[in-house]
Amino acid sequence: MTPYDTSHDEENIHSSKPADAPRPTRAEAEAAVETLLRWAGDDPNREGLVDTPARVARAYEEFFSGYQDDPEEMLARTFEEVEGYDDMVMLRDISLQSHCEHHMVPILGKAHIAYLPNKRVVGISKLARVLDSFGRRLQTQETMTAQVASAIQTALQPLGVAILVDAKHQCMTTRGVKKPDVSMVTTRFTGVFKDQADLRERFYQQINLR
Ligand SMILES: [Zn+2]
Repeated sequence: MTPYDTSHDEENIHSSKPADAPRPTRAEAEAAVETLLRWAGDDPNREGLVDTPARVARAYEEFFSGYQDDPEEMLARTFEEVEGYDDMVMLRDISLQSHCEHHMVPILGKAHIAYLPNKRVVGISKLARVLDSFGRRLQTQETMTAQVASAIQTALQPLGVAILVDAKHQCMTTRGVKKPDVSMVTTRFTGVFKDQADLRERFYQQINLR
């Protein structure tokens, strides 16, 4: 596959795997951080900054650990013994941390995820873990919202999935147009949620239910 081959774009909505190029070493990553510190106008050798490149590299391992995850595997273990439960299952107010792929600054907010089971349900923490696995990558909110819905739909085969993400982008709140209170809302509906307005309405109502 050449670097210009786009035939896998369709797949990338699921995997967003890094390019085939060899991963830089930790020393190379730390050197890059040192360059940015000098570019910002500071002295990487002063006491407070000496360990910063190493700290940033470790923080990046955490921020971007999602590239190592397999969301569909996370959802592989399902349960059928739910006494015929056949209504919406919803996880509300899941905290979301991601990074914008254009500025590499945080996207912080909440996600609400629901699905209508088709006999099978997953452990409740799994939906949050799937969100994390896509959040801990460089993202746009639109892509991430679609990826989470798609992974749940593919792995669990429910009658439908609904997701709403409400997040603030620091590239917009702390720089650029500097609108500190603005948040961005994205949604994705599949299956019955796409087809039935009353189900979408219940989803929205349950988000606001307090
Ligand atoms: Zn941005």
